[in-house]
Amino acid sequence: MSNRIIQIILVPLTSYGVLEFTDNLSNYIRDILTTVGISVDTIVWPDVIKPTMKCFNWERVQYHAACIIENIKGIFQLIGLVGKSYIIGIGYLDGFEYGLNFVFGEADPQSRVAVVFTKRLKPEFYGEPINYNLYFERLVKEVIHELGHLLGLQHCLNTRCVMKFSNSIIEVDEKDFTFCENCKAILRSKLSQD
Ligand SMILES: [Zn+2]
Ligand SMILES: [Zn+2]
Repeated sequence: MSNRIIQIILVPLTSYGVLEFTDNLSNYIRDILTTVGISVDTIVWPDVIKPTMKCFNWERVQYHAACIIENIKGIFQLIGLVGKSYIIGIGYLDGFEYGLNFVFGEADPQSRVAVVFTKRLKPEFYGEPINYNLYFERLVKEVIHELGHLLGLQHCLNTRCVMKFSNSIIEVDEKDFTFCENCKAILRSKLSQD
């Protein structure tokens, strides 16, 4: 099987809650994708790209996920990276999508752009003590989840699989940060078709 190399760009949407974790995050992404035969070249975008306030909903006090994806897409289209790289915006923000109270993230596989919101990944959000390891673990899970969507995976019913849809932080904690055997097989077959 041929080894494919993909470029992943991690785009900090805030410095807080993101920049201190990007090096470790890049390592985890590399290790997890290696298990399905994908080699990655991860770049941390050197600038913090603050999302436009046009995406902020003042009534909900949350950012609209699809709007942020469009925002990131617009910026990276200008430099010709959309469609070539896998772009994931990460921000210590709270995000929503219509029909849902909140989302941990959202992905647009067509443009290969995704967003991950980390405010609800912090134990402090639930009145629990600061725990950087737990926050980082949750961050890895949500980034790998959105990356899985960008690579063409759908939600998985296996509660341990990273592709399980998480409706609450409990469900995030229940799942692993890797793909189940079934999702791995789907990814491998997708790769061999390309
Ligand atoms: Zn999902
Ligand atoms: Zn799965």
